[in-house]
Amino acid sequence: MFGLMQQRPLLISSLIDYAATWHGDREIVSRDPEGAFHRTTWASVAARAKRVANALEAIGVEPGERVATLAWNGYRHLELYYGVSGAGRVLHTVNPRLFPDQVRYIVHHAENGIVFFDPVFAPLVEQLAPHLPLVRGWVALCDRTAMPAVKVDNLLCYEDLLAAASPDYDWPLLDENAAASLCYTSGTTGNPKGVLYSHRSTVLHAFCTCAADCLGLSARDTILVVVPLFHANGWGVPYAAAMCGASLVLPGPKLDPESIHMLIEQEGVTQAGGIPTIWLNYLAWLENNPSRLDRSRLRLKHVFSGGTAAPRATIEKFRDLLGVFLLHAWGMTETSPIVTIASPLEKHADATREQLVTLQLKQGREMYGVELKLVGPDGQDLPHDGKAVGELKVRGNWVISGYFKGEGGQVVDKDGWFGTGDVATINPDGYVQLTDRLKDVIKSGGEWISSIEIENLAVSHPDIFEAAVIAIEHPVWAERPLLIVQLKPGHEPGKQDILDFLSDKIAKWWMPDDVVFVDSLPHTATGKLLKTELRERFHGHLAVHG
Ligand code: ADP
Repeated sequence: MFGLMQQRPLLISSLIDYAATWHGDREIVSRDPEGAFHRTTWASVAARAKRVANALEAIGVEPGERVATLAWNGYRHLELYYGVSGAGRVLHTVNPRLFPDQVRYIVHHAENGIVFFDPVFAPLVEQLAPHLPLVRGWVALCDRTAMPAVKVDNLLCYEDLLAAASPDYDWPLLDENAAASLCYTSGTTGNPKGVLYSHRSTVLHAFCTCAADCLGLSARDTILVVVPLFHANGWGVPYAAAMCGASLVLPGPKLDPESIHMLIEQEGVTQAGGIPTIWLNYLAWLENNPSRLDRSRLRLKHVFSGGTAAPRATIEKFRDLLGVFLLHAWGMTETSPIVTIASPLEKHADATREQLVTLQLKQGREMYGVELKLVGPDGQDLPHDGKAVGELKVRGNWVISGYFKGEGGQVVDKDGWFGTGDVATINPDGYVQLTDRLKDVIKSGGEWISSIEIENLAVSHPDIFEAAVIAIEHPVWAERPLLIVQLKPGHEPGKQDILDFLSDKIAKWWMPDDVVFVDSLPHTATGKLLKTELRERFHGHLAVHG
């Protein structure tokens, strides 16, 4: 017997309609690359998104066609989020920080016919255009006066297109399973692969994001979106904010600590999300500029952090300097991205400060709507005892069923489990603790050493800015850990000092065989340590120095 309730499709257009109707005056604040402010509202974003939809029809973008963006976080990009997907086209956010050849590969693979770009990316556009035969139009995200001098055929002006487009548009009643947006994983190995989100997955993920134990977003929030809109849909925040009527602050490319602080203070930001590197720099700046910090002027409650592990020092400094709780989250482009969040349980009500930090260091517990399990090397399920180490597998309503165009073949098993490539433990309360990527684990004498755990401990040394631990070949133990550190400016501890610092914190057989100092560590386009490059650079290091 079926229930007798209505079934309305879960569509992205319903989010912007809701925000426009009931939270129409909540502000969307943007900064352009020069730092100039622009202020608009959900009502205006919604109205202009309808013009975008009409403009897409005018320039011949077919339903289902993928429309690319090369853009920073700003109101025009947000209008495309809703205008493109709402109209049944597919928003393809391209990461402009990738190597130009990767950008070319991605745009071609997605068969993008139209590319919307911020004028600052004009040089990249000019470089790519001759190699992208399928692109029939390049739309500069600006008005006529700001048009870049870029030599490409079919250069169009966004504001001209919108001015010529009617503001009247009825969002189509799409199938909720229709594709809504496309995002490629950065592919540190092999070619990038496309993750094709649906309207349904996006709306369900937004419900989860707003939930109190997740980010707990509400109509009273003002969210600083430091995470780029081209990274897993800005972690889904642009959708969740419309769902609950929160204001957004979109910082453009200026992500220096001073700009971030100014936005947090001036715009009354209550929540801010970004990767740990951003927070590391921000907190270092605050420590060096104590006079700039006036806590009475801040409304910040939470920062949420994901993409790489949040170090202890970052969690503690947010607490001590700002009185802010860092919410540590884990997920992947393939999972929309949120799967776990380290929010406390009722049993933690009386937790000490130290116990809370220990909890926050974990990647968090499973949110309703997705399921996790831990699997050993021979495929058997492992217990959630906080000790057994295995690969995390995930399935659920916002997890991929396969990559775009079938790349990578069958990526989920017959029960829908997707192998994340992340290695972790899960404790009896459900908290996940990532210990490594499968490809980064250090296999020493038949046991696994967690590179992430040593990195986390190393960065709690007062002189260390950032640390990477990689596996180095060893004649006896197969592999041993090498610690590579970037020091804070003006600090000069010796190797022994760092090893002494670690010695009472980790097992003896986990101790790095050597410590090397570098001026800076390489990162991927999404801010992760580029360990492939480090492994190449330090290949055979122990044979020479061991
Ligand atoms: P990319 O495009 O670089 O793959 P993703 O955001 O999809 O970017 O990367 C997902 C991976 O990032 C995860 O599989 C995991 O290894 C890592 N990651 C994400 N969040 C965390 C976290 N909180 N702690 C440690 N690693 C994380």
